[in-house]
Amino acid sequence: MVTVPVPLSTVRRFQMFDRTVQAMGERLHTVRAPAQMMAALAWGMEELDQAYTEAPAGVKALVACRAGCDHCCSVPVDVQAHEVFFAADHIQRHFPPTALEQLLERLTCHRHRVSRLTAGTRDHSRQPCALLDGGGACTIYAGRPEACRCHHSSNAAVCAAHEADPTVNLTKVLIPALRVRLFAVRMGLDEAIETVGFDERAYDFGSALHEALTNSLCLVAWMRRQPAFPDSCLTEPPDATAPDLPKKLKLAG
Ligand code: SF4
Repeated sequence: MVTVPVPLSTVRRFQMFDRTVQAMGERLHTVRAPAQMMAALAWGMEELDQAYTEAPAGVKALVACRAGCDHCCSVPVDVQAHEVFFAADHIQRHFPPTALEQLLERLTCHRHRVSRLTAGTRDHSRQPCALLDGGGACTIYAGRPEACRCHHSSNAAVCAAHEADPTVNLTKVLIPALRVRLFAVRMGLDEAIETVGFDERAYDFGSALHEALTNSLCLVAWMRRQPAFPDSCLTEPPDATAPDLPKKLKLAG
């Protein structure tokens, strides 16, 4: 008999969101230096991972994602600046010079390719992420963005079909009982970042990461509550960015 996982209650979902906003906000208010910021961001990423760990076994049993499966790593990744700086910090601490040089070459190509996409076509574009190794593994697994941490599928074959054909409906293989849990924390982190006044615009991960790794002033600007990256790194031009739903409305959806 198949047991259908009991979804997280709305009350519990909002509790997780509110707790994350408060705890992350308290950390961000005390941040004065980049090292303190990275510690705060590491706490947030650990909270996301913990939300997965604490999910019921019956929910996690639905996850088809396995090491070496990289169908979800060829689609565009939307991030906020804090995720870019967290990934950049991970790279700067762990990549030897040669690996960093090779990564910068891949990111340069990525940024050039994305910059040539016409408006509205980025979501359907496909290109292996510059952070993938040759065997389908993420080279920044501990430093990967929130979207990567929150993506879980119940059917890898549908992910493969979606990779080849962007019109294939992926939503049917996402796992709601897991997704609402992780998104409660993810949106709590993003809400705290926004509330404290940091740039919360949506950036293309590869383009913004290239900028972060080649221009140390990005982090300085961001910590001064200024835009972190040039508009050319945004997922869409500023005037084409649709107004966002209030986070709590999304949570309730
Ligand atoms: S950062 Fe890692 S997990 Fe995310 S798309 Fe790139 S390779 Fe995949």
